[in-house]
Formats: sequence, C-alpha cells, structure tokens
Amino acid sequence: MTMTRIKLLFILFLFFIPLIHAAQNESSSSRLYNSSILMEKQRISVGILSYNPLETLEGSRWKLSFKRLNSHPDYIFIPQFLDIEALQKKLNKDELDFVIIDAFSYLKLEEEYGIQHMLTRNELYSKKPFSLEGLSLYTKSNNYNIVRFLDLKDKKIAVLAGNIPISKTFLKQFLFKHGLIIDFNINIEIINEVNQLLNLLDSTKVDAIIAKSGVIEKKFKKQYVLNKMPLPRLINPRQSWQAPFLHSSELIPEWPIAKAWFIENSLANQVASLLLSSPKLMDGQLINVNHGEYNINESADDFLEQYQWSIAQDYNILYTLFSLTKNNQALSQNDHAHLSSQFQTIVVYIIIFFLLVILSLFLRSSRDLNNRLTLSKQSLEREINERQLAQEQALSHHDELAHVTRLSTMGEMASGLAHELNQPLSAIHTYVQGCIRRIDTGQDNLEEIVNALKLTTQQADRAAGIIRRLRSFVRKEQTHKTYSDINNIIHEVLSFLDSQLKNNNIKIRLQLQDKLAPVLVDIIQIEQVLVNLLKNASESLINVNGPGITISTKLVRDDAIELCIIDNGHGISKDKLKRIFNPFFTTKNSGLGMGLSISKSIIEAHDGKLYATNNTIQGARFCLTLPLISQNNVLEGRSGNNNE
Ligand code: ADP
Repeated sequence: MTMTRIKLLFILFLFFIPLIHAAQNESSSSRLYNSSILMEKQRISVGILSYNPLETLEGSRWKLSFKRLNSHPDYIFIPQFLDIEALQKKLNKDELDFVIIDAFSYLKLEEEYGIQHMLTRNELYSKKPFSLEGLSLYTKSNNYNIVRFLDLKDKKIAVLAGNIPISKTFLKQFLFKHGLIIDFNINIEIINEVNQLLNLLDSTKVDAIIAKSGVIEKKFKKQYVLNKMPLPRLINPRQSWQAPFLHSSELIPEWPIAKAWFIENSLANQVASLLLSSPKLMDGQLINVNHGEYNINESADDFLEQYQWSIAQDYNILYTLFSLTKNNQALSQNDHAHLSSQFQTIVVYIIIFFLLVILSLFLRSSRDLNNRLTLSKQSLEREINERQLAQEQALSHHDELAHVTRLSTMGEMASGLAHELNQPLSAIHTYVQGCIRRIDTGQDNLEEIVNALKLTTQQADRAAGIIRRLRSFVRKEQTHKTYSDINNIIHEVLSFLDSQLKNNNIKIRLQLQDKLAPVLVDIIQIEQVLVNLLKNASESLINVNGPGITISTKLVRDDAIELCIIDNGHGISKDKLKRIFNPFFTTKNSGLGMGLSISKSIIEAHDGKLYATNNTIQGARFCLTLPLISQNNVLEGRSGNNNE
C-alpha cells in the first residue's frame, strides 16, 4: 500500500515537471518582455521654451505633437519646459536632443550650440495654417499721444510673455529694430496673463501693451464684445496674406523644432515624419479684418488641433533682421568700445606725454645739476690747488722770512757771539802758551802738559759748539720735526744767549716741570721763537732795576705744554698789545717788526698758540702752547697718509 502510494506520487511528479518548467519559462519570458520594452525604448529629451514654470504637457498646446512622437516604437519623447537660460545650460551639456523654441531665440542657439531647425510650427486659424507670426502694439483707443513707434519714448509698456509666449529676446529684437531700445528709455513689464495685460491698459497703468498678433483680438471677441469694453487701438497696423491678424511688426517664422548637433539625420527624419503626419486640415478661410474690427469666424473648438508642423520656413528674413540688429548692437557696442578705446588711448597718450615732460625736465634738471656739480667741483679743485699753491708759497715765504730774520737776529747778536767765542779762544791761547813755556823752559812734567792740552781741547770743543749752533741756527733747511724735550731746547737757547743775557745783567729764573712728554717740533724754529721772545724780553729790561726773566714750562689740560717767558720790563700798552703780532709792527728804532709775527706763525704751524699779556705788577708775559701728540698717533697718521 505504501509502495503503491509512493509510485503514484512519483508518476504524478514526473507528469507535473514539464508543466512547472513551462510555467517558469513563461513567467521569465514575460518579465523579459516587459524589461525589454523598457530597455529598448530610448529616452529622447525635448526642450521647450516656456516662461511658465508650472507648464506641463497635459493641457499644453504641445500635447498632440508629443502624442504623435511617442507613437514611435523605440523612443520615449520627454518634454522639458525650460526658460532660455535653462535651455542654454542643458544644450551646453548636450543634455537635450531636440528643442522647440521661438524663431529669434533659435537663431541665437543655432549660433551658440549648432542646433538645426527641421520643421516650423503652424498656427491654425480658420482651419488654415500660418507659419509666420507678428507682434502687435496696442494703446488705449482714446490715447492719441501714441500713434507711431517713436511716440513710445519714455512710455511704460507691458508685454505678454507666458501663455503665448513671446520671448524677451524677440521683444528686444523687435523693439531694437525700431530703434526703441537704444534710443529711448522704455519701461518694459513682462506680464504672463492676457486679462492682466488688458486691465493694465484700461487702468492706464501702462501706456501700451504688446502681444502676439491675434491674441488680443481673440480675447476681444470673447470678452470685449460681451463686456462692451472699449477696443484697444493697434499702432502701425499692417496686413499680410501670410498672417491671419493685423500686426505692427514684420512677420517672422513661427516656432521651429530643431535637433541638437549630435542627433543623426535618421532619427531627425523619423521625428519630422511623425510630426508631419498630422491629419489634413479642413478647408478654412482667412479671418476678416475690417478697419480695426475683428471678426473671427471660428472658435478654438472648431480646430482639429491648434498647432501643426510644416517643413522649415525660409529664415532669411529672420537672419537679415537678426544680423541687422546684431550688427547694430555690435555697431553700438563697437561705437562705445571704439569711443572708450579712443578715450583710453587719449588718456594713455596724455599720461605718456606728461611722463615724457617730467622725464625730460628731470633729465634736464639732473643735467644742469650735473653740470653745476662738475663746474663747482672744478672750481673747488682749482681753489684747492690755488690754496695749496698759496700755502706752499706762504710756507716757502715763511721759511725764507724765518731764515732772513734768523740771519738778522744773528747780526744783532754778533757782538755777543764774538764775546762768547772769545772766551774759549782766549782760554785755548792761554793753555797753549803755558805748554810752550813749559817745553821751552825744559820742564819735562808731561802730565801737566797733557792736562793743559786736554783743557785746550775742551775749549776748542766749546768754541766749535758755539759755531755749530750758530751755523745750524742760520742754516736754511726744510722743516724737520722731531720729538724733543722742550726743556732741553730752552737750555740750548739759553747757552746760545748766555753772553748777551749776562752782559745785560739779566737774571734768568727757570721754573721747568720735570719729565714733560716730548713735543713734536722743528727744533730750530722753536729755538728761533724762544730767541725772539728772550731778545724782546731782554730789550724791554733796559734801564730796569733788577732785570729778570722767568722761563716756565708745565703740562696743561693733559694734552699740551705751556711755555711762558715773563719779564719785569716796561710791559706793553693796551693799544699796542693788539698790534704787536702784526708784521712790521715795531716800537724800536732798529726793529724790523717781524719777530713776533714769524714766531706766531711758527707756533701755529705746530698747532699751538702764542699770546701776550701784561703782568699784574710789571712787565710782559709771552706764553706759547704746543700740543702733545703721541708717537702712536703720529705713526697711525703716517700709515694712514702715505701719500702725504
Ligand atoms: P721788533 O723786535 O723788531 O720790534 P717784534 O715783532 O719782535 O719786532 O716785536 C714787536 C714789538 O712788540 C716790539 O717793537 C715791542 O714794542 C713789542 N714787544 C715785544 N716784546 C716785548 C716785551 N717783552 N715787552 C714789551 N714790549 C715788547
């Protein structure tokens, strides 16, 4: 029993296997079929210009066109209602395959994105297709201020753009063509709804309204007649067999559908075929226009559809209009650009001119300055040379003069010197006579004779010393400075004048400071100064009781040595005190008046000073200072002035 049941179940299982398989196959194939439809239907994006952000395909005038397009087995046509900026963005990214747009905007996109128009939309009036459209400008029937386009200057205009829609570009181009945008200040207000537009005109909130030709007329038929509203007046009315309504503007082609640059012709052809496969129109007739009265025979309900498509219109008129406005715009922009570039050029030229003027002035002034500098440098060099020459001449004169005065001094001192020489010579004579006498008398005490001869030699040396000093004093030599002890110089000069001073009974008192630093001096010149001062002092002591001269030296301010020669003579009167250093000033009969003048210039040449005062009680005081120059400084100075 159990076995039989199992066999039965097995047979049943075998029987159902093909059924299960078939069912499985069927379900998978149906899934495949559905997905293949979705997979195979390629999405085609169609951009439609619209200024109504809420616009959808349902209820739109493009509904029938898309119904026809979407009858294609392989493609799904998806409408995208976009404003002009959005359209441009998508075209830029190649996200749109086809575009439906007004003719003016098309030209712009053709130029920018290479779209190509395929068909032109036809609007149906009285069952007759019209592929051209115009714009109409209306004002209030009783407003006679506006009878021409030019009267729109400074006026307020409302424009219908939405349901129709008329693009801003179209309007701008249209107005521009009539010279209104660039020449006049026109306030343009974009209105989306016809009633709103008409109310604005009725309430005189605007001076004029613009809409696609026919729109107001249809509204008039439906509302104006019923409401007995006054008719708006058409400005610049034109009539053409190509358009059903009177119009103010030129006629331009209706909206085209265009393909993107990358869409192949085969697809474009299929799209065109689908759109052209509209049902044929019934016979219709033009709308009668009779002196501003509108008579529309048909209502929208009579239309099979509002729009149809026909082969692409001739766009020449549009190209001409577009290029005209573009050229005008470009011209106007060029004019501005030209003017601004001209202005810029002029400004640049002016700046360059001023820069050149400033540069030339600067160059000229710098050249003048340079010339003046060169001239002043040359004159300065000349002056320096002249001064150097004069200084050298003065020095040589000074040396000459010093030499002459030394000779003259020697002349004056001749008697004193003779007396001084006489002493050693007499001594020599005495010693030599003594030696001869001893030799003659046969005294053979050689020791005494040798002593006498030694004394003779000493006296001869003394005489030779006097002669040497004399010679060196009157010798004509170039200035030769050495570091010398000022006290030694004083002693030397005193030995020189010793006899003269003694002859005049002048008592010499020395107040010399010990261990004074050596001074850098020309010894002979300093000796000459001291001789002059001592001679003057001794001459002032004539007929003075207890004549005396004090010679002092001391260190002053740590950087100079002061030497003073103070006599107790008759002194110097106040008026003479101012003049005694002048050359040739003398109060002596045989005086030259050059001693003090030369002495002062000698001391000043040693960077020192020589000055005279009267003592408080009696006599005059002549002091000189000599700077202490350290030997290091001199060495540094020499190494730093090798050229000197
Ligand atoms: P000279 O001795 O040839 O006159 P100096 O130039 O040496 O020329 O002196 C000028 C004048 O200064 C002297 O004539 C004298 O009147 C005055 N003088 C110079 N030294 C003294 C002095 N120690 N006391 C008074 N007068 C003096």
